[in-house]
Amino acid sequence: MTKVLVPTVCPYCGAGCGFFVSVERGKAVGMEYMPGHPVSEGALCSKGNAALEFLRHQDRLTTPLRRRGEGFVRISWEEALGLIARGLGDVIRRDGPGGVAFLASSKCTNEENYLLQKLARLLGTPHVDNCARLCHAPSVVGLNRTLGAAGMTNPIPDIGSSKCIFIIGSNLAENHPVIARWVHRAHEDGAVVIVADPRETPTTWMADLFLQLTPGTDVALLSGMAHVIIAEGLIDGDYIARNTRGFEALRESVRSSSPERISEITGVPPDDIVRAARAYASSPASSILYSMGITQHSTGTDNVQAISNLALITGHLGRPGTGVMPLRGQNNVQGACDMGALAEFYPGYGRSDDPETIRRFSSAWGVPALPKGPGLTATEMICAAASGDIRAMYILGEDPANSDPCSQKVHQALEDLDLLVVQDIFMTATARLADVVLPGAVWAEKEGSFTNTERRVQWSSKAVDPPGEALSDLEIIAAVGRSLGIDLGSPDAASVLAEINRTVPQYAGITRERLGEGGLIWPCPDPHHPGTPILHSAGFKLADGRASIVPVRYRPAAEGPGREYPLLLTTGRVAVHHNAGSMTRRSPSLLRREPDLFVEINPADAFPLRIAGGDPVLVETPRGGAEALARLTDRVKRGVVFMPFHFPGTNRLTSEATDPEARIPEFKVSACRIVRR
Ligand code: SF4
Repeated sequence: MTKVLVPTVCPYCGAGCGFFVSVERGKAVGMEYMPGHPVSEGALCSKGNAALEFLRHQDRLTTPLRRRGEGFVRISWEEALGLIARGLGDVIRRDGPGGVAFLASSKCTNEENYLLQKLARLLGTPHVDNCARLCHAPSVVGLNRTLGAAGMTNPIPDIGSSKCIFIIGSNLAENHPVIARWVHRAHEDGAVVIVADPRETPTTWMADLFLQLTPGTDVALLSGMAHVIIAEGLIDGDYIARNTRGFEALRESVRSSSPERISEITGVPPDDIVRAARAYASSPASSILYSMGITQHSTGTDNVQAISNLALITGHLGRPGTGVMPLRGQNNVQGACDMGALAEFYPGYGRSDDPETIRRFSSAWGVPALPKGPGLTATEMICAAASGDIRAMYILGEDPANSDPCSQKVHQALEDLDLLVVQDIFMTATARLADVVLPGAVWAEKEGSFTNTERRVQWSSKAVDPPGEALSDLEIIAAVGRSLGIDLGSPDAASVLAEINRTVPQYAGITRERLGEGGLIWPCPDPHHPGTPILHSAGFKLADGRASIVPVRYRPAAEGPGREYPLLLTTGRVAVHHNAGSMTRRSPSLLRREPDLFVEINPADAFPLRIAGGDPVLVETPRGGAEALARLTDRVKRGVVFMPFHFPGTNRLTSEATDPEARIPEFKVSACRIVRR
């Protein structure tokens, strides 16, 4: 029997590893590695290797469903589309288009995100966003402001030529293991590796220097490093003079951030702050890698800007081995944002309140008017649903009832909507609250492009058909549009990509024909352009061609420990699970290795509470409680506890405080207490 090898992109993290799905008689029978892939070079981590396990899981949604009482009944596509058209129409007639909100998905392709935001805006609502709001919204705001481009500045393989790698707020050894291989490679070639994290992890085990800071004190640490670099004359004065503005204000703002003072805030010894600053500034090519340990704070945008500042004052940008590298969690966070599935931006990062951007898209889409933003962000939509300002939501591939902070409030807000439509592959916690559930396709059951964390756009081909009556997400969005009287054009990915080529300048030259194995890195302004692996080698795309150094001052996290809640809860990921866990908890080989929600506690905190390893405990915050199994470990400092967010429960606890600009919740710092059950 002939076996066909279909090239696809891993459905999990932003590394965007490629592999082949082996198909026989229309069924996925295995996987083959892709040795020529520029990032993975044929490697995959445990999640990538298990990617086929959830494909035919018994929980897959196979028909449209409508709510009846406490349960659901199967319905036809015709009935489902009719319900949605009537429900959305009722809300729009009564409250206007602004009563409807759309949530797109960084699990879905560029074409699906593009089409969903187009549907939302053609319907007249500015409220469209994606789950990047929960992970890298501060990177979009902070990097756009400081460097003029919201993307990783250098390609992943470039990490291999770095001489000093500063990793802050990222457990990449577990969460982006294939990227960790490039760090290992550089380390073996003599690079210094510095890791700053509140928790000891497999990433910190690689470090020459581990800075175990208190959760929420990143700005202080980065200011302390900037202080040392400036005080010791380790800045790159020529680079600052030629390429930046704002240096003097930064110098002033970090004047009082001596290592001794910063040590009191962060808990990092002063000598280690000095060593880190010297190593980063003095190496010929230093890079900074960060992830949600930086962004998921009420100071997330400040954290990102403080990272840009370090790179700018030392000139570690625009060359191989340098750069600022936000490591995206989901495989298409970058693409969903590029495609304008964001409250503040139309596709290609034209501001949604800019009349010229609105005019350009009105003309491209052949309509007289489009809504002016900014619309509500994902976090604001939930608040607006709770207050009654949003009355209908359409959610594609996301599970806010599990993934948003204070999840019991999210449940209530979604339950109270007049209409909730959820398009997904499983009956998630959010889908259980829906009025209509639409069965979508997983990555291997459809085609389209994904943009990984280094801005590499790759084409993923269809290997097998979706189960039952499930359809590709593109087909569903187009059908919903038709039911509302909106023609979104041909629902095939190549046609939508052709439209993207015309409307998104960074993707103008990234045509379907050019997306062979390995893809192309944006910006790629014309069909002959080779792509741009390294940004900022010829200046910055800001008004005067200069980057902005933006002084930031340390602000404590919204919650600190007190008498009632004496511990600090921080959250994160483990190697075998991904985000809200809807896919990995349905992959038997992964679930077996990490089946339960746990909480890591320092033995010095556990002992007075009479908690032993393996004990069931109740973790409580001012918002609610969650049961977990205790793990006693000195991987967390005294006073700090850690829980993964892959299981229902963790986000009943997390803080609703948000960054004032990026509106990302402060998942990384909540005051809590623990009692033995
Ligand atoms: Fe998939 Fe990320 Fe693992 Fe690569 S590193 S195989 S993209 S989960």
